[in-house]
Amino acid sequence: MVITNKIDTIGMSHTMDTTNKTKRRDKMDIVNTTRRKKSDQLKILESLNSRTHLAHAQQQYMINLQKGFEGEALFDKLIQNYLGTDRECLQDRLITYNGSTAQIDALILIGNTLNLYEVKNYEGEHQQLSGHFRRLKGQEFICPSVQLSRTEKVLKQVLNQWTETVDIHSYVIFVNPAFTLFDARMSDPFILPTQIKKHFEKLKNDQTQSSKECIRLVNKLQSESRSGEKYRGTPQNYAYEDMRKGLICSNCHSFNLKLTQRQAFCRDCGAQYKNDTLLLHHIDELTLLFPETKLTTALVYDWIDGKLIKRRIGRLLQNLS
Ligand SMILES: [Zn+2]
Repeated sequence: MVITNKIDTIGMSHTMDTTNKTKRRDKMDIVNTTRRKKSDQLKILESLNSRTHLAHAQQQYMINLQKGFEGEALFDKLIQNYLGTDRECLQDRLITYNGSTAQIDALILIGNTLNLYEVKNYEGEHQQLSGHFRRLKGQEFICPSVQLSRTEKVLKQVLNQWTETVDIHSYVIFVNPAFTLFDARMSDPFILPTQIKKHFEKLKNDQTQSSKECIRLVNKLQSESRSGEKYRGTPQNYAYEDMRKGLICSNCHSFNLKLTQRQAFCRDCGAQYKNDTLLLHHIDELTLLFPETKLTTALVYDWIDGKLIKRRIGRLLQNLS
């Protein structure tokens, strides 16, 4: 059996999906911790990492994406805990003005102020130098406030097309409690882990009603921006026959599963699945990796290395069609 999949950009084949979803969502985005999903790209990399040998650079890239995703999930939780679920908010959107594109991690309307957040999940001790951050035991990299200023600039340009004045407050928020920053200045746009509570409590206590114009503005920004997912991509070639077959844990991607008649248990992370749920995850995985391929019982059976009986697979596929 030979199935190959060559795509220039991971997630390319899902572009249509995302666009349609965006179109269908005619109401404002509401903050919801369950709504932010792992990007297809991250899911593909995790799958390739379990089932093939991923090059070191791609592994590092995957780890960065995982850290980013965890950071955003942490941020969503903070918003839900402090501000509830009914705030006007944009998450993971790309805005473009005059050929410049910037990524908004999160934008929340409080009263008539737009709060722009660059979410960082850095861990460990860091030092701020001029325009740079330095890990105390590692390399230097560009200060996240540089990225924030750029995003703010593009955002202002986009908004200025529709309105004369709107207040924007921009922050880099460090969501990981294990992050420490030396040589930070009061004037830096940073929210350090120990300042998070105070920051969100202040927003929570702001009872200013948002004007209709501001709400319309955020709505317009939502419809005129794109999902961040499509933007991220790396060249990727992979072939079905090069992949290790079998059932893997959806949580930690281990092959170390114990199967009973109805359930599967992960010996590495303790996750439990109904067999049908686990099977569905594997069908989703196959569809994501090889979107052009027709799903058959034989293919799924081969993919999971015959760990569940064909009758169960056939039944599930029939229910899906
Ligand atoms: Zn596991």
